[in-house]
Amino acid sequence: MIAPLGFSGKVPGAISCRGCGAVIASEADALSVMGRPVQSTYVNPVGAVCEILTLGEAANLIGASASTEAHTWFEGYAWRPVACASCQQLLGWRYEASSPGLEPQTFFGLLVGAITRPGDPGRDM
Ligand SMILES: [Zn+2]
Repeated sequence: MIAPLGFSGKVPGAISCRGCGAVIASEADALSVMGRPVQSTYVNPVGAVCEILTLGEAANLIGASASTEAHTWFEGYAWRPVACASCQQLLGWRYEASSPGLEPQTFFGLLVGAITRPGDPGRDM
């Protein structure tokens, strides 16, 4: 489902790091969480507006060692920042369920401004 690291990004439906072009996921990985649209806008405690895309799977990411439920946008889920494994740019967050009954148990919320998707203006197709 995910192209190997170093691929040019010209994969049908590929979602890539805007900074370096590494393929992170596929459009097919988009996942609605808690019945919300896959692309939604959230505001963090310091007032920054974050537009994120939720995905069930993602690759080529590195995560922070610690997670927290503080100010989570998804009740019952802790989050940890994730960055591109190639260029270390912050791409979003990985969400992890804090109870076994939640579905999905994990998912990713990636910053729309930090990734490129098919059809984005200026994307090299
Ligand atoms: Zn990158």
